[in-house]
Amino acid sequence: MYPEFVLLYSMELTIPYVKERIAYFNQSIFAEELPPIEVKLTTAKTFLAKCTYKIRRNLFGKVRREDFCLRINRILNLTPDEIDDVIIHEMIHYYIGYKGMRDSASHGKVFRRMMYEINHTYHRHITISHKNIPDCTESITGKPVKWHVVAAVSMNDGRMGIKVLPRITQRIYRYYILVRKSPEVSHIDLFLAKHPILEQYPNSSALKIHYIEQQKLEEMLKDAERLQIINEREIRKIDNQA
Ligand SMILES: [Zn+2]
Repeated sequence: MYPEFVLLYSMELTIPYVKERIAYFNQSIFAEELPPIEVKLTTAKTFLAKCTYKIRRNLFGKVRREDFCLRINRILNLTPDEIDDVIIHEMIHYYIGYKGMRDSASHGKVFRRMMYEINHTYHRHITISHKNIPDCTESITGKPVKWHVVAAVSMNDGRMGIKVLPRITQRIYRYYILVRKSPEVSHIDLFLAKHPILEQYPNSSALKIHYIEQQKLEEMLKDAERLQIINEREIRKIDNQA
């Protein structure tokens, strides 16, 4: 049901990408009942995503909802899978709004029933925020674990280095290729890691490394997942269970 590789971890969110995911979920989850919706990317710091629409009443007081728009934050530090959950969450709002269904609250009974059903049937992890803000402003419940793309660099003289990279495929690729070419470097491995200490390292694609003791590096990477560069546009997680 899902694409084979959901791992463009460092991708930059684009409108075509979001539209393609919406079309995909419209077909696979919402029985193609939703017409295409306008998508806007934002950089607002106050919300993850929201589904907005205008309510208009005709002379007889009959309510029409129109101008549906799905706004999604493009500075999210989320995995494609998490982004999918955010998109589906907003699509539930869209569905309820488009169908003119009444709900007890923004994330009321109708919303929750649909959410639980989708989570169960499609193995999703859609959540609702604690704040029921009427315009369906979302915030992720709790702080999500922050995953970092980490390059572990082995030098020819036996030293080890670390670099935390931005989650942008092209930049990771460039760093990987250029550092690997360097005559002092014996090899470089990429990981997706979530050790809190990684927060302390500057995140950039500057061609730098920070020397570190091997033991410390191993500790940081103990539950990290190994990444594999496929090409300039694609980085994949190596499946450890295989
Ligand atoms: Zn919501």
